[in-house]
Amino acid sequence: MSDQNKRDKHVFQLTRRKALKGLAAGVGVLALPSRQASASVWESFFQKHFRELSKDELKSVLARLEKEYSKQYDKDVTVKATPAIEGVRFGYGLDLSRCIGCRRCVYGCVAENNQSRDPQIQWIRVVRMDKEKGIDFDSAEHYYNPAEVPEEGHTYMPIACQQCENPACTKVCPVQATWKENDGIIVVDYNWCIGCRYCMAACPYGARHFNWKKSQIPAEELNPDTHYLGNRPRPVGVVEKCTFCIQRTREQPGRYPACEEACPVGARKFGNLLDPKSEMRYLIENKRVFILKEELNTQPKFFYFYAT
Ligand code: SF4
Ligand code: SF4
Repeated sequence: MSDQNKRDKHVFQLTRRKALKGLAAGVGVLALPSRQASASVWESFFQKHFRELSKDELKSVLARLEKEYSKQYDKDVTVKATPAIEGVRFGYGLDLSRCIGCRRCVYGCVAENNQSRDPQIQWIRVVRMDKEKGIDFDSAEHYYNPAEVPEEGHTYMPIACQQCENPACTKVCPVQATWKENDGIIVVDYNWCIGCRYCMAACPYGARHFNWKKSQIPAEELNPDTHYLGNRPRPVGVVEKCTFCIQRTREQPGRYPACEEACPVGARKFGNLLDPKSEMRYLIENKRVFILKEELNTQPKFFYFYAT
């Protein structure tokens, strides 16, 4: 085990212990399972941090979750934990000159990533802007509902987690329930998140969402192909966000994120920033790409550009 891993392990144990101690003193934010809770609920409450689990422990956690979800949704649900692929750093590109604001990416993402239909949680939001004003967030409209898109005089900008290289969100988590993986994807361990929402306050892009209520997903609409750190069903009281469709993009051969496939005008691009032959590298090297809130030094791996 490397020194960094040893240090990380020590920190996890300390912080989790503190959170539980705070609980005992009645000051914690973590909700204890009820007395009637099943053995599996208690098992999950005392589960180790994802990065501390041994191979066998991880296997049994995944099996427990698969059993729970399969029973709850009355279909075979798989929960995988496919790790990052070596030599891969994911990046995203969005051609604003093509986007027509149809929100198909939003709905594709909701379906693929098992986001709650009621209350509604959407990891992507598309804002409408006045063409004359350029990119102006002060006057951007989050709720627009015209009969047809695109509309004369308007442009559209989809925004989701920017998978920052220097993320503000992970640094403030008191229990290290969120971190950056080796392929650059920022993940959340829903079994470890205590729902304090510090990460939401720290994210300058409004990219994180909190589960205030039990999420409602019709069983027939649940995507049964899930990842532990991504689109598996989330419990109440935890934070969630885009993971570049970790359950798809880490497959070999990799698949595109659902939003990329749903876009009817080819505005969305995705690929490996470390591969000189990838479309993302071509874009960065040949188009005038820009990132949001560059001055904050969060270093997003989400690049916007105008192809025409
Ligand atoms: S966009 Fe927000 S949630 Fe996503 S990595 Fe950056 S700071 Fe974290
Ligand atoms: S699906 Fe494509 S065109 Fe439609 S809003 Fe999303 S990015 Fe824009």
